[in-house]
Amino acid sequence: MVKGGVGRKRKADARRIVLLGKPGSGKGTQASRLSEALSLPHLSSGGILRGEIAAGTPFGLEVKQYVDRGEIGPEELITSLILEFMDREGYGSEYILDGFPRTEGQAASLDEAFPPQKALLLDLSDGEVLRRLSGRLTCEECGAIFHEQDSPPLHAGTCDRCGGELLRRGDDRPEAIRTRLEVFRRESAPVISVYESSGRLLRIDASRPPKEVLDSIFAGL
Ligand code: AMP
Repeated sequence: MVKGGVGRKRKADARRIVLLGKPGSGKGTQASRLSEALSLPHLSSGGILRGEIAAGTPFGLEVKQYVDRGEIGPEELITSLILEFMDREGYGSEYILDGFPRTEGQAASLDEAFPPQKALLLDLSDGEVLRRLSGRLTCEECGAIFHEQDSPPLHAGTCDRCGGELLRRGDDRPEAIRTRLEVFRRESAPVISVYESSGRLLRIDASRPPKEVLDSIFAGL
């Protein structure tokens, strides 16, 4: 999923930014807001995979089982898909990446190809992850995210932005959420260390409302 757009313009030196954090920590929401504020293209690896699944491509058929269960998909295949996409679409010099890298291997491949300047870690407790994901609604057309209690759409079931249908993601079921949290601890904790040891990590308290989270991201950038 790639989005750009206009909004309140802000400045940041970093033009290649990755977002890290547990599922439900707000990576998609903040990536979309950052993309608008900084005029940077937003690339969501999960969005790309869900697009392939919806289109029924051979790749989509292969990764569907992993995505449904909340597991890491075939790592090398996904790495090549994302890096080739970035190369083809000219995203090497500027991007906001959400959902990639998710493993140490993917972080190493990204550092070789298009090294990020900043990694933003959105910190959130497991309890809040469960609360957020169980109320999350996603637009199947444009990927916009709503929440039944925190940010309901103006008209139930319909996206405020594009009029698309709002659905609950298949992997926002309790057992898939548990798997995704385990995968995060096992696979993505080493990714955090990669960026921390190279001085590129910025930790953000993601428990606050989206606008405050965005403000603290800008304060840190
Ligand atoms: P997300 O939208 O980021 O929560 O991703 C949804 C699902 O897509 C994940 O649970 C994985 O199954 C798969 N996925 C997304 N990004 C990656 C990645 N970088 N490597 C492997 N699998 C991924």
